[in-house]
Amino acid sequence: MPEEKHWEEGMKTHENLIFSCFGGLSNTGLTSALACLEAVKELGLEKVAIGCLGALPLGVKPVVGKTKAAKKVVTVDGCPFECARKTVEQAGFTPTRSIVLSRDIGMKKKALHEDIGGGIKPVMDYVSAEDVQKAKELIIKALTED
Ligand code: SF4
Repeated sequence: MPEEKHWEEGMKTHENLIFSCFGGLSNTGLTSALACLEAVKELGLEKVAIGCLGALPLGVKPVVGKTKAAKKVVTVDGCPFECARKTVEQAGFTPTRSIVLSRDIGMKKKALHEDIGGGIKPVMDYVSAEDVQKAKELIIKALTED
């Protein structure tokens, strides 16, 4: 089997990167991840992709290199723990813009464990299409404004 060729400095890459918190334990983390994906769907992969958050502090070379090459690095977090922003900063990067859904679109965090044993619902019932839309618009604005 041919060896996989990893990305190296100087190769083509996405113009910008988003790093999303994607916490599946709450509505806020789910909304963050879904909104980031919607933003990529709308803008296209040449303009933006979702960076591998867990790879950054591990020093995974192609991910670190693509982050260095990105014109803009936008972090998107669901709640004030700001896991994505802090992880990106711990890896030595300064986000161009940091979005926090509880702060910037007024989302109220709902931890999903609270409903276990008392009417837990299907996972997507905890996600509001309106919140995803609002978050997506903020992300697109951060990526497209000067
Ligand atoms: S920022 Fe909040 S919602 Fe996102 S992963 Fe961290 S704790 Fe979960």
